[in-house]
Amino acid sequence: MAKALLSLSAAQLSERIRNKEIRITDVLDAVFETIQKREQELGAFITVDEKGAREQGDALQRRLDVGEDPGPLCGVPMAIKDNICVKGLPTTCGSRMLKEFVPTYDAEVIKRLREAGAIFIGKTNMDEFGMGSYGETSFFGACKNPLDLTKVAGGSSAGSAAAVAAGEAFLALGSDTGGSVRTPAAFCGIVGFKPSYGAVSRRGLVAYASSMDQIGPMAKNVEDAALLLQVIAGEDPMDATSRGLKESVWPIQNRCDLSGIRIGIPSGWLQDQLSGGMRQNLEQAAAALRDLGAAVETFDLGYEDLAVAAYYTIADAQCSSNLARFDGMKYGYRTQDPAASSDLHRMLKQSRSEGFGREVKRRIMLGGFVLSEGYYEAYYLRALKVCRLIREAFTRAFEHYDLLLGPVSGDVAPPLGASFLDNLKMYESDCYTVPANLAGLCALSLPFGANENGLPYGIQLLGDTGCEKGLLEVAALLEAAALPDGYQQAAYGEKGGDLNGECL
Ligand code: GLN
Repeated sequence: MAKALLSLSAAQLSERIRNKEIRITDVLDAVFETIQKREQELGAFITVDEKGAREQGDALQRRLDVGEDPGPLCGVPMAIKDNICVKGLPTTCGSRMLKEFVPTYDAEVIKRLREAGAIFIGKTNMDEFGMGSYGETSFFGACKNPLDLTKVAGGSSAGSAAAVAAGEAFLALGSDTGGSVRTPAAFCGIVGFKPSYGAVSRRGLVAYASSMDQIGPMAKNVEDAALLLQVIAGEDPMDATSRGLKESVWPIQNRCDLSGIRIGIPSGWLQDQLSGGMRQNLEQAAAALRDLGAAVETFDLGYEDLAVAAYYTIADAQCSSNLARFDGMKYGYRTQDPAASSDLHRMLKQSRSEGFGREVKRRIMLGGFVLSEGYYEAYYLRALKVCRLIREAFTRAFEHYDLLLGPVSGDVAPPLGASFLDNLKMYESDCYTVPANLAGLCALSLPFGANENGLPYGIQLLGDTGCEKGLLEVAALLEAAALPDGYQQAAYGEKGGDLNGECL
């Protein structure tokens, strides 16, 4: 019973719960049994809230039993990245600094999810404050890949990806500043979606780099990712940067082929960092899209080689400013050193030195440097100019192409520990994901093929800002082509539907 339950998608699960074919308590039994079995070895959660989840489940079941419909995610157990505020649950950001922080309010996305009937089962492990690509910089220890415990789960939304891949949750929320939803989704073999800048409210998301942060869905398949996006997206008067979605993305429109769709692969993404296996799978994804009727070709995007440098300059600058509030006074950990109690400067310095981990401190220092007088023009301002050039390069690209295709990462999930040996290499590995954040695009990561050890390759589809609907329609078809039984079998429906919206 539990196994059959856990193999359902979130959309199927909520439908069956709402049809009274499944009781929520059985779903929660299955989920917490899996957590019991796997959590020890995985480290996907920082906080598990079984009591709270059971209470939410009972309340929803009562509403169902009296004939109410609590919403499209009714009874679906969800894991939430630990930088998103859920009222009453610790929100640590994977940091000692916020180990004791319990928010008094729900983030806007959480509010929307509660209204849709989702159940929050816990808060997931992450790279400290979202800074990392492999899920290893958390104060609470690394999160491991459920497909191979010697490999990283990917970061920074490591626990969210691992929880969904391991059957500990049906859906999860991550946040993506430079790839943190897409990379762990790719390494764990699930779907991860970074919405366009502004599609989803960030009120209640602890800020890392504000010009790029976005909350995004992590799910077992494209359909679930679209459903979750539909629920969380929308304009929020409390977040001036939020605009919501241009068009509704749920339910995904049926399409039987991709004729008339043009897809470009930036040739700069096909350089040496790409492993043979990754290249081969990317080529197969392109072939699958061609078989579906799309025109796929490589093209020169431009500035691919500058994206990582621009991203880390901008992200570090913004993080040094955003994290200034964590000082042991306004927020966060305060040093226990008695010598610091009568010396304000010492207290601030020591609290931050002890409260933040190595990677966070490195970035705060770099960020302070690139913003300092005399260096601001040479670094931060210059990075902003490069960011502008990248945005313009994408604007030109989307005049010719409906979507872009690329890898998520150069290869499958690397072994645990590798990032500590060479952090510049870790930064460089973000070269395929950071451009979407610099330019505010939407981008989706989809598992497509696996290596000889069963580790998945992640393929990325990118759409222009606001074009999530068309992107999800194409992704759904590509996903069906990636299924073991091969091409031609569209997951979504028969004939009909058309992709000739404003974007595609
Ligand atoms: N790996 C990138 C970084 O460390 C991206 C992180 C993210 O998207 N939060 O900044």
